[in-house]
Amino acid sequence: MAHTTPPLTPMSLSTLMGRVVHEWETRKKIFDLPNARIWRPDPDVDLSFEFLGRRCATPVGPAAGPHSQMAQNIVLAWLGGGRLFELKTVQVLDDLEIGRPCIDMETIGFNIEWSQELEVAQSLEEYVKAWMAIDVLRRWAPLREFVGDDPGSHVFDMSVGYDLEGIRTEKVASFIRGMHDAAAVIDSLRPQLTGPFAEFADLDFEPVISKTLTLSTFHGCPPEEIESITKHLIDEHDLDVIVKLNPTLLGFENVAALLHDELGYHDIPLHREAFDADLQFDRGVELIGELRDFAAERGRHFGIKLTNTLVVENHRGFMPEDTMYLSGPPLHVISTRLLGRLADALPGQLAIPGHDGDILVSFSAGVTKANLADTVATGLNPATICSDLLKPGGYGRLAPMLRGLADELRAAGCADLASYRARRLAEADAAGHGSTIAHYVERLRGEDGDPYRLDANQKLPRHVDHELEMFGCVACNFCITVCPNDAFFSIKSLEGMPDRQQYLLFTELCNECGNCLVFCPEEGDPAMIKPRLFTDPDVFGGREGQGFLLTDGVITDARADDGTVALVQQLLDSEQGLPLGEVRR
Ligand code: SF4
Ligand code: SF4
Repeated sequence: MAHTTPPLTPMSLSTLMGRVVHEWETRKKIFDLPNARIWRPDPDVDLSFEFLGRRCATPVGPAAGPHSQMAQNIVLAWLGGGRLFELKTVQVLDDLEIGRPCIDMETIGFNIEWSQELEVAQSLEEYVKAWMAIDVLRRWAPLREFVGDDPGSHVFDMSVGYDLEGIRTEKVASFIRGMHDAAAVIDSLRPQLTGPFAEFADLDFEPVISKTLTLSTFHGCPPEEIESITKHLIDEHDLDVIVKLNPTLLGFENVAALLHDELGYHDIPLHREAFDADLQFDRGVELIGELRDFAAERGRHFGIKLTNTLVVENHRGFMPEDTMYLSGPPLHVISTRLLGRLADALPGQLAIPGHDGDILVSFSAGVTKANLADTVATGLNPATICSDLLKPGGYGRLAPMLRGLADELRAAGCADLASYRARRLAEADAAGHGSTIAHYVERLRGEDGDPYRLDANQKLPRHVDHELEMFGCVACNFCITVCPNDAFFSIKSLEGMPDRQQYLLFTELCNECGNCLVFCPEEGDPAMIKPRLFTDPDVFGGREGQGFLLTDGVITDARADDGTVALVQQLLDSEQGLPLGEVRR
């Protein structure tokens, strides 16, 4: 649905922190994440790794995408145990209209979304808000028993796109400088730390939020452009840089054979033009070596990221646009296969077991709880996640992933990732492979590849034959957990209401991505049918359909009948109530 209003209106830091306190006191949750899903480091297992010269307490975090766009998303990922945050890509064109819905997770995972949907200055402020909120929460006494005395270090890795001209503009350059030195933005936000957080208003927040950057280039970006941008970022901004590679690097024939013949996804048409226009394998190998040398000469770190999503023809029709981007299980196999080829072509250069070079390899392609240990064993870090967090459970899937990884290390008799990798390398050697990635690629060709094949990925989300209504539903909670922006929340039902929980929407946090529509078992779109709350009169006025405008927790305008307005107000006034500390009456 096209709007005249912005797709997202961030909550202020004071509103977010008010939400934290209110939800904790009334629900023992933060941004709807229950305390049981908060990750606490295991004192016997060190999951830390070195990211471009910086220590990072766990090898996982949100991939640049919907889970790293707004401040509460980043805080949620931190609570779940993410410690490496690939911030959503920022670019000069910050008022693009993106088609909706933009996420299709019904099966393996497709999307058409790309860069930030906020203005560049807003993006900077969101990242600073998240940075400050995490620093506060790691010290906040009520959370101590859940996050531990030392939740460990974290890293914000920024991302910019998509061409040199845009990256050189003052708008993008000032964003990068702002991430280098956020003191002014931090100072402007300090007065919003009030109430139980007032003691942190003068905290010595680290002003250097990020000095690393993952470069995202457009499809068809010529190698000279990738080279120029990387050199510009190193020379002009003194950054450690990771270049994100496209899966098209593996070549059309190879990807077609893998996706269609080996994995069985015959119905997904590849987009040949993207393969022809993108960086080709041999030139890519040269470029990686050249950029590594360029960075090393300047005392900077360099890395590669595997991979971007794979552009395919839009054969499903759920989202608009002619092409879309594939992620999830098949991308995991495509990206590991690409890494295997790159490792062979760059012997001794990649920082993975069996090669021991200095080019960091970060990875984001279908990472799940089931394959995290294998992914990390191949030397890939961080392993960042998007598709899996868009499934029911959402950010709450992170902590079990990390606990599973810690259990795996413990079972292998390893106290840290380095010793675990050494052990897995010995296993790979014993199996006749010179590296863990070569061993993993071979395993995925056999039975271990079954979970990635079409047969294992055809199950559709649960469906019940019932029209979704504003009040009452099967109360599965999916609309809360699958939402990357935590736009939904629930309130215990009032006496006489159907079902045990009622679900309401902070409409200004909803960008109509479509993910709750896909997973809601009932018929209808939760983001349109459940009570839609607004706090901004302009956004309320600019949207159509039912809605309730709140002023200090009171409905002051509505597009609904009087009885419905009274019922929503009663819910907001109930014991659990509206989780907006600051604006609650
Ligand atoms: S409420 Fe639904 S449509 Fe809106 S952002 Fe969340 S998941 Fe997407
Ligand atoms: S609106 Fe749909 S997704 Fe949300 S709790 Fe109800 S049934 Fe589940």
